[in-house]
Amino acid sequence: MPEPDGFREMNGATLPASGVARDYSRLTRTLYTRESVERLTTLVVGAGALGNEVIKNLALIGVGHVVILDRDHIEASNLTRSVLFCTAGIASHLANRTPKAVVAAERVRELNPDVQATPHVGEVADCGLGIVRRSDVVFSCLDNEMARLELSWACARLGRPLVDGGLGRTNSSSGMVSLFPGSDGPCYACRKAPARRRQLLQELQGREDPCWLRERAQAEADVVSTTPVMASVIGALQVEVGLRHVLSPADPTRGEARRVTLHPGFSAETSSFERSPACPLHEAASVITVVRERPERTSTDWTPAALLDEYPGGAVLLLDWPVTARAACRACGAVFEPWVRRARFRAATCPTCRGSDLAEQEVVTAIDPSSPWATRTFSALGLPRAHIWEIASLADAAAPRHHVELTGDLAPRAAAGAQ
Ligand SMILES: [Zn+2]
Ligand SMILES: [Zn+2]
Repeated sequence: MPEPDGFREMNGATLPASGVARDYSRLTRTLYTRESVERLTTLVVGAGALGNEVIKNLALIGVGHVVILDRDHIEASNLTRSVLFCTAGIASHLANRTPKAVVAAERVRELNPDVQATPHVGEVADCGLGIVRRSDVVFSCLDNEMARLELSWACARLGRPLVDGGLGRTNSSSGMVSLFPGSDGPCYACRKAPARRRQLLQELQGREDPCWLRERAQAEADVVSTTPVMASVIGALQVEVGLRHVLSPADPTRGEARRVTLHPGFSAETSSFERSPACPLHEAASVITVVRERPERTSTDWTPAALLDEYPGGAVLLLDWPVTARAACRACGAVFEPWVRRARFRAATCPTCRGSDLAEQEVVTAIDPSSPWATRTFSALGLPRAHIWEIASLADAAAPRHHVELTGDLAPRAAAGAQ
């Protein structure tokens, strides 16, 4: 799989309206009334088979804003399971390697011009928390556990409900939808057995054991095939569970799971679950409650030094994840500054000889004002845009942390949507 070419935001121009106004009268006696859904902002992470179904339903229902995050481009094998990519222009999308998120957003605007659609090309870790914060509900349509856990943690820190969809758990005719209600409830890691949770958390910190990497590669190779039929069933259920939760929230401390099997016997089971007391991702200090918005600042013009300068008592900027800042190639001797998350550095290659025998020389977890990195812009450091940065006092480690958002990275309309 090619490396994503970074984070890009494309607020595409609104396509010419078809001239036919949408008539929502058939939805008025349902959950999805115009007044209730047109004010919603939804974030769909993953625009594969499941994401296509979730996005399609959100567009038909007419939610106010659909934000789509995906790192990949369209491939021919997607077409049997991805309704949004089956377009007249598919040949040029394949030839041009058009990102899935971009085509999905264009299709949303075609399906329903009342819906604003914003694509972001990148991974979960490239998605600044400012984007998650503006979402009333987040749909996880991902195919790997690490990304799911990253997204779940972001949602828990910001108190955003997350609806996770999974296909092919038992066989290609099965799937599951899980609701994680927010800061007061369980997270994705709570659902894991203790040993697996420990592995995942270590992987998140970039400290994975090579044996686990092999196991994971094997597990991913064994993924059960999925069908458009199951993607329709599970994607539809995700939208129903997510919108129902947002429009009439239930117990914020309990998660809910719905497991559906179509074959060899039909079954539909619902269960609820609580936070695991052993899960370490629920420290009260990690929950972000007060965010200072900085609409006049962007990642391309601001530096950690300038941000920290605003705290006269001395402060340090804490990174969410360890970042590999400097590395050396054992094959050709080149020294370079990858500035990528440590977990992702595992897949990096030498920029000079393309070799993969690399040694980390510097790993950064925090930036203080005297750090040589502090005077580079956030963009130059490769850090996510529209992020919410965590600032800790140097004088008093126990003092509450400050949270500062680089609001200027967001388009004006999106920036106005925070609650
Ligand atoms: Zn948890
Ligand atoms: Zn090299």
